[in-house]
Amino acid sequence: MEELSKIKGIGPKIVSNLNKLNIYNTYDLLTYYPYRYNMLNRTTLSNTIDNPGLITGVIESDVKVAYIRRNFNSLNFRIITENKIVKVVIFNRAFMKNNLIRGKEISLIGKYNNKTNSFVASDIKFEVIDKPTIESVYHLTSGITSKQLNKLINSVPSYNIDDYIPSIYSEKYNFIDKSSAISILHNPSDIKLLKQAKLRTIYEEFFTFMFKMNYLKYKRTINNIGLKREVDKSKVDEFINSLPFKLTEDQETSVNDIYRDLVSPQRMNRLLLGDVGSGKTIVATIGLYINYLGGYQGALMAPTEVLAVQHYETLTKLFKDLKIGLLVGSLKASEKKKVIEKLRLGEIDILIGTHAILSDNVEFNNLGLVITDEQHRFGVNQRNILQNKGTLTDVIYMSATPIPRTYALALYGDMDISLIKSKPANRKEIVTMVKKESEIKDVLENMWNELKSGHQIYVVAPLIEDEEDSDLNDIKKLKDNYVKAFGSKVNIDILHGKMSKIEKNRVMEEYKNGHIQILISTTVIEVGIDVKNATVMAIYNSERFGLATLHQLRGRVGRNDLTSYCYLICDKDIDRLKVLEESNDGFYISEKDFEMRGEGDLFGIRQSGDMAFKVGDIRRDYKILMQTKKDSEEYLKNGHVDNNYQNIMKNLDFNN
Ligand code: ADP
Ligand code: MG
Repeated sequence: MEELSKIKGIGPKIVSNLNKLNIYNTYDLLTYYPYRYNMLNRTTLSNTIDNPGLITGVIESDVKVAYIRRNFNSLNFRIITENKIVKVVIFNRAFMKNNLIRGKEISLIGKYNNKTNSFVASDIKFEVIDKPTIESVYHLTSGITSKQLNKLINSVPSYNIDDYIPSIYSEKYNFIDKSSAISILHNPSDIKLLKQAKLRTIYEEFFTFMFKMNYLKYKRTINNIGLKREVDKSKVDEFINSLPFKLTEDQETSVNDIYRDLVSPQRMNRLLLGDVGSGKTIVATIGLYINYLGGYQGALMAPTEVLAVQHYETLTKLFKDLKIGLLVGSLKASEKKKVIEKLRLGEIDILIGTHAILSDNVEFNNLGLVITDEQHRFGVNQRNILQNKGTLTDVIYMSATPIPRTYALALYGDMDISLIKSKPANRKEIVTMVKKESEIKDVLENMWNELKSGHQIYVVAPLIEDEEDSDLNDIKKLKDNYVKAFGSKVNIDILHGKMSKIEKNRVMEEYKNGHIQILISTTVIEVGIDVKNATVMAIYNSERFGLATLHQLRGRVGRNDLTSYCYLICDKDIDRLKVLEESNDGFYISEKDFEMRGEGDLFGIRQSGDMAFKVGDIRRDYKILMQTKKDSEEYLKNGHVDNNYQNIMKNLDFNN
């Protein structure tokens, strides 16, 4: 592994462009794989009438650029192909103008319209492609093209790259070696080889992940010393009985799991898995209370500031006698300092916060329990840092990502799992309907009724403001429309990720206290917001979101005993949205989501820090996943915790 700047042809500007892609060294560069391949194969003009295809031709005219509107331009010229003059147009490629020189032979990808004798190109290659070619396409930021990136990757001098597939398995499955696989992934010459290279790379990715899981589990069984607490159980029961509701059966079981772990001398590493609205927070809160009664400080970490503040308010109300602290990014430096000082002196019993809790200068007096909310949003490393703040600290991860059981067991193999399947009994099903934009009147009518009953509304759209070339709805436009529809007596406001923290908090506060009646936002409200009075949600362009996200969003309503409504507004016929009309059960929806492979966002797992596989896809490659689970268990059982694997642990910052 070497620094990027050591490679010939890579200057500071390219380094900074590569850094934007999270590429920091030659290893990152080599393993920055294409996300897609273009099959380039020359065809005839008439073959590109119905489906796009690749043709070649000689430029026959000058090139005219037309700037149509902001961010929208076209290039027009003519080519000679098949002894015919054909008009060519390509959009938003003004930057190519100087390369399109009369007399030059080029390749064009696109479709031919024989009535107007024009070829609408989607891409142009400045070379003649006359034999079948596979082109690598990379995720990019501006400043670098796929072709340039591919060239840079190919200029990395070869060196020994650790291969993490144990030889017994490479031999068993007849895998090609790692450096060949890497080279093929970037420069495939045929599909068969590409498949072999992918298979091998996916296997390695999954194997290391699964091995990690199994290794952590194994380490817990041989060296499992945690904090043993003396806890007055009657106080815990008293607290539970003082709550305004009765715990559900699953909540009770989860509380018992946690209690058992906290009073036993083993270290807890538990996943609290439950659908949105299933009531995980109160279970976590009881856990923090048990920990407090046992004499330790506790911490609760949330993925957003809005959510942290909400937890803070909930806990402050529940525990009048406990000292609860809040540590979030937007606090003034002096306030932060005060909180940190108190924490160190043990003058705070429970600390609630965002990632700010992870900074080095935050020191606990005697941390006993750490809870992370919406754990799939945090990476493994962040989780680890927190866990290591106290040497024997117990840990609970909360996740509203209901995934099918077999996956949960594989992907969270290192943890014990408490499952909250049932929802509080007072919940009504959320009435969910797919609606066309032309049917919006029905939706508005029902919104009006709900507003008259004093209820509140969420409206969600994919964009913040209008973008050229996009016909998606944006929240600024929707706000205008809603103000027009409801008049000035209804208080309407917006929320999105680009607002300042202070603004966001203000809007959330005003929505919570009922001042704002209709909140129009992007998906920033997805996580954990709890406003019981909200009964309607409308999600525009819902075809843009995965089932998981939609289900999570929908979970913001139906948080009381009123009937709530969710409108999935969508002009396309999308079958998968029907799953949401059918069911309110996150576990059922996730099963369906997994069945309908290829679509959906897999409950956010792909983006999460700990399961962001580069090539592997846990749904598509389910069989490989399960095979690596089996193989890695076997490998560990046979005593193969050799240096190679100690190394993996170290590299992955997993060895605490
Ligand atoms: P999530 O699992 O999505 O984090 P929350 O913990 O936010 O769900 O709980 C959703 C709402 O349900 C909260 O307002 C909470 O007070 C309430 N709640 C939790 N448990 C129960 C219960 N057993 N009965 C009635 N309401 C409950
Ligand atoms: Mg929650």
